[in-house]
Amino acid sequence: MSDCEQLKEYYEAYALSALEGEERAALDAHLERRCPVCTAELERARWLVAQLAYLAPEAEPPAALRRKVLAGAGTTKPSEGRGWIPVWAWVGAAVLVLFALFSIFEMRRYQAELTSLQDEIRAAHSRTLELESERQLYQRALVIRTASGTREIDLKPSGKSALPEVRAFWHAQMGLVLAGHKVPSPTPNHTFQLWVVPKKGLPLSAGIFHPDAAGTVLLVATPSATLADAAALAVSEEPAGGLPQPTKDRILWVGPVS
Ligand SMILES: [Zn+2]
Repeated sequence: MSDCEQLKEYYEAYALSALEGEERAALDAHLERRCPVCTAELERARWLVAQLAYLAPEAEPPAALRRKVLAGAGTTKPSEGRGWIPVWAWVGAAVLVLFALFSIFEMRRYQAELTSLQDEIRAAHSRTLELESERQLYQRALVIRTASGTREIDLKPSGKSALPEVRAFWHAQMGLVLAGHKVPSPTPNHTFQLWVVPKKGLPLSAGIFHPDAAGTVLLVATPSATLADAAALAVSEEPAGGLPQPTKDRILWVGPVS
């Protein structure tokens, strides 16, 4: 009997120095041949036993441990100076607890791997969704821009600011695209907000936007005001989240809808 499968039930007893007789001889002989499986398993069993040392009262497991364990609960006579729980029973219970702990340890490691894998999948998935929504945005913008009947509106920087021009493309049914290049970021905690200024009444917000890192602006909006009723488009800088009405002296771009 030198098969690893047969030997594996003896590792813990061996590590506890509780294995005797022909089983011990067999495992000794097997280990001398440097079986990698059993060597690793015995290492694990020794680790378990080492953990046992932290929990156990200072006691060598009795030599007859294995025999007594196998004999069942026949010997319940208190052993000297160890309280009323027999040492073999205590060690047996501790080994069970350690097996449970070891399984939990293994399970945690497995779960940690699983969690990190799930995180990767989630990140890849959200990146895919991001790219997909970006693709859809560009596609919508392109459709509006190239459709027949789309009105082109140039928004010029108001005052003497050195801002670049931005341009809007508005289709009565499909919506409005605002595009710009090299547009600087708004001041911290602020956002740009697009307004439709109607021929009658108050300006209506058509959305907020931020240029990307390269200063590119691409906003696709569906204004509540109709193209026919619009007198102008304006962009203002507002506190983050935008405001219901534009701040008068913060209007940065204006363009008439002719
Ligand atoms: Zn082996």
